[in-house]
Amino acid sequence: MKNLTPLRSLRKGCLHCMGENYNQVEACHLDACPLHPLRLGRKPKSSNGKKLLTTVKSIKAHCLECSAFNKAEVRNCNIPDCVLYPFRMGKNPNIKNRKGNREALRNYSFLPKNKSVQAISVHN
Ligand code: SF4
Ligand code: SF4
Repeated sequence: MKNLTPLRSLRKGCLHCMGENYNQVEACHLDACPLHPLRLGRKPKSSNGKKLLTTVKSIKAHCLECSAFNKAEVRNCNIPDCVLYPFRMGKNPNIKNRKGNREALRNYSFLPKNKSVQAISVHN
C-alpha cells in the first residue's frame, strides 16, 4: 500500500491536469507553474540557477494560484478530493507534530484506513 507523500501528490496532480497522460506531463512547457520542476515526481538534477521551492511549498504556491492568491480561499478549499488538498497549506501532515490536514490524508483510498497517518514514513 503506497502512502501519499507531497511528491506523489504533486505528481498525481500533474497527471490529473494532463488527463492521466504521462507523456503530456513530461512535455508540459508551462514552466511558470509552481509544480513544473517536480512534475515528473523527482527532484531535477539542475535548477538552471533558479531557486527551487520544496515540494510542499510548490503545492502551496500552486494552491494560491488556484485560489486567486487568497490564503483564506486555500484554507477553506472545498475540493477535498483534490490530491493536493492535504498539503495545500504548505505543511506536510505526514511529519509528526507538523501542522497539516491528517484527516484529509486518510481520505485517499490507497492509504491504509486502519493505520495512523503519523506512522507513515516520509520520503519526498
Ligand atoms: S506543471 Fe502545472 S501545467 Fe504542467 S502538468 Fe503540472 S500542473 Fe499542469
Ligand atoms: S487543493 Fe484546492 S486550492 Fe489546491 S489545487 Fe486543489 S482545488 Fe485548488
